[in-house]
Amino acid sequence: MKDQYGREINYLRLSVTELCNLRCRYCMPETGVCKKPHEAMLTEDEMIAAVEAAASLGVTKLRITGGEPLVKRNIVSICARAARVPGISEVCITTNGVLLPKLAKGLRSAGVTRVNLSLDTLNADKYARITRIGQLDGALAGLHAALDAGFDKIKINAVLIGGFNDDEIADLAELTRTYPVDVRFIELMPMVDSREFGPEAFIPCTEVLRRLPDAAPAAPDGGVARLYRLPGAQGSIGLISPVSDHFCASCNRIRLTADGKLKPCLHSAEEISLKGLSPEAMREAMRRAILEKPSCHAALSATQHSRAARNMNQIGG
Ligand code: SAM
Ligand code: SF4
Repeated sequence: MKDQYGREINYLRLSVTELCNLRCRYCMPETGVCKKPHEAMLTEDEMIAAVEAAASLGVTKLRITGGEPLVKRNIVSICARAARVPGISEVCITTNGVLLPKLAKGLRSAGVTRVNLSLDTLNADKYARITRIGQLDGALAGLHAALDAGFDKIKINAVLIGGFNDDEIADLAELTRTYPVDVRFIELMPMVDSREFGPEAFIPCTEVLRRLPDAAPAAPDGGVARLYRLPGAQGSIGLISPVSDHFCASCNRIRLTADGKLKPCLHSAEEISLKGLSPEAMREAMRRAILEKPSCHAALSATQHSRAARNMNQIGG
């Protein structure tokens, strides 16, 4: 279905939980999140009904996210049921990878088509620092588990943080030569919990190109990233610049949070509740969300915070 600005909305990001086994500094508080009452969260059946409603309006691509989707007890079942919804041709998952050694094969059998793995640094101390409680070995084991399970076109997402990992741009990009993976550099977005980062942390994606003089432009793949490739690489390098050069004009997505709030725009406070609605009412609410999608979000910068009024773990990225 098209929104009022003529954008074809065909992509739903479904957050299945706000909880996470890491505590990335730009994403969520050190103390974790207050567990909301069970009744406040979408049930598995409601999630599937929402996917069906979205598919009936033209959504073909689903991304399962969180919080950390793999900490959700029934994640394999959610993925398997979502993959069977008529009209859904892609079920992707975004994960920190830590639980992939246990779950990668099951997710692939359940019909998950692609995996994105978040990895901001290849240095064990820095990984522990940025995730507050994580271990680099766990994330790398997750990458290997995804490769072993036969996932192709794996994407590694790295949030660019000035003074933290800008010195690792070349090393992270090198992963595209070592493994059959794409690497995406994403600009740090100013959310509630990224306030601890000063202006120097918000560096534009153009910094990546400055550090990779051999990267040559590559053909676009229909996503929001501008693509490049290193000589001899197996995968591409992508630049995602929501802050320095937003892509609202071609935005094709809506988001559904784990507590059932449809978000027409990531950086707007507007939310439409789906919790407890019948399938027909859900479809109607989703149609409204698509129609009410704003043309663009307000400017973002180190001093202009997102108006989302939630942290990323409560939206899904
Ligand atoms: N836990 C999973 C993971 O980390 O991949 C999925 C949820 S996480 C919220 C989704 C993506 O959002 C991750 O790639 C993460 O790095 C990114 N993210 C979180 N907070 C961000 C911020 N303030 N700016 C840019 N990206 C952010
Ligand atoms: Fe958890 Fe992902 Fe947020 Fe890190 S970015 S705290 S892994 S939800």
